[in-house]
Amino acid sequence: MRYVSTRGAAPVLDFEGALLAGLARDGGLYVPESWPEIGHRLTFWRGLSYQSLAFEMLAPFVGEALPAPALGDLIDGAYGSFGHKAVCPLVQLGPNDFLMELFHGPTLAFKDVAMQLLGRLFNTILTRRGESVTVLGATSGDTGSAAIEALKGLPAVTVVMLHPKGRVSEVQRRQMTTVMDGNIHNVAVEGTFDDCQALVKTLFNRLEFRDKARLSAVNSINWARIVAQTVYYVYASLALGGPDRPISFAVPTGNFGDVYAGYAAAKMGLPVEKLVVATNRNDILARALNTGDYSTGTVQPTISPSMDIQVASNFERLLFDLHGRDGTAVARAMDGFQATGRLTIAPDALDQARRLFRAVKVDEETTRETIGRTKAETGLIVDPHTAVALAGAAQARGDIGVPMVTLATAHPAKFPTAVEAATGVLPALPPRMADLYQRDERYAVLPNDADALQSHISGIIG
Ligand SMILES: *Cc1c(COP(=O)(O)O)cnc(C)c1O
Repeated sequence: MRYVSTRGAAPVLDFEGALLAGLARDGGLYVPESWPEIGHRLTFWRGLSYQSLAFEMLAPFVGEALPAPALGDLIDGAYGSFGHKAVCPLVQLGPNDFLMELFHGPTLAFKDVAMQLLGRLFNTILTRRGESVTVLGATSGDTGSAAIEALKGLPAVTVVMLHPKGRVSEVQRRQMTTVMDGNIHNVAVEGTFDDCQALVKTLFNRLEFRDKARLSAVNSINWARIVAQTVYYVYASLALGGPDRPISFAVPTGNFGDVYAGYAAAKMGLPVEKLVVATNRNDILARALNTGDYSTGTVQPTISPSMDIQVASNFERLLFDLHGRDGTAVARAMDGFQATGRLTIAPDALDQARRLFRAVKVDEETTRETIGRTKAETGLIVDPHTAVALAGAAQARGDIGVPMVTLATAHPAKFPTAVEAATGVLPALPPRMADLYQRDERYAVLPNDADALQSHISGIIG
């Protein structure tokens, strides 16, 4: 499989190249040159374990980068770290209404599903090449801890992880800053998540520094993460009668990585009725998909902080398809967006997107109510991100004969304050994390300034 940049001006790469590059050199994101067709294989995949299904799904994307037994071992290792035998179990909430729990990994959020695999892929491929990289990332909370957990202690990798100071939950911060491995470096930036993400982009675009520091990314722009996330869409479908009937999914959305993986699964031939893009009041994607107006606003803090963004990096991957895979047109659109903070989606492209996507903005009050009501009706305690998606699913349900699978992206104990306020119950951390609040922390604080960050990184890597 070969990968092309959404802006059409970066080298075409194989899986190994796209994995290590993260962001393309023209500022674009890598996407596969064509989609493998899985439709005719789905019935044969019924009843496979999560690991076996992941192997079948990943193999065509990985290609010759890894021999089959090595890929199988990596997958087994990645999902062996999960606390549930089904890896991503389904729970029923009501008639034709399901929750898929994606939070049984080591840091209690869905990002482990991709990151546990990505860390192992990095380690294997870098070791084979005798190389090392500096993973530079920005996190609104969960990516950072998932990356740190997946990459800690690897000799070939130095991690520099930015988070917006004071804007991630204490559990999220501590899951990052209490990791004492020498290759892990946390930076609290005096700014928002979008500022952090912009700093990362700026340093990646300083090509000389990028090469010297051997910068690499594991945030949700990394193609390997997207492909790992396509697996649970197929897993849910097969468990609920797919491919003989279509399934809808409701996805709590920030950077558009998770729901784009659902789109990718549909592109490959999975029968998907609707993808509900549920945002909190940071609603750039809801506005874009409802009116064609993709324009940034100011980031507003919410009780679902992992979705507090006003630029959704992975949306560019969808724009690429909406522009007929014309990289030059995407580059022009993104340059305009960079300059003005606004991009308008043409009416026919919007119609095309809306055949699959439904976008819903969910306010804070509805999110709290949904946490409370879900507990009252089912006994289940859901986290605020999951609640945003449940509220979105209820609003955009459409045909009730189609099963709705809402993706539960975080364990409620990651967001204890909001959950306690909504339910009166303080969700407990699993025993292996019980002492999190007592552990020592280590992190630097930097201004929102690319030069300061560059010299900080130079200081670390020497
Ligand atoms: C990252 C995250 C999301 C948003 O996922 P995207 O791929 O950025 O859209 C939703 N919920 C939780 C808990 C997350 O950590």
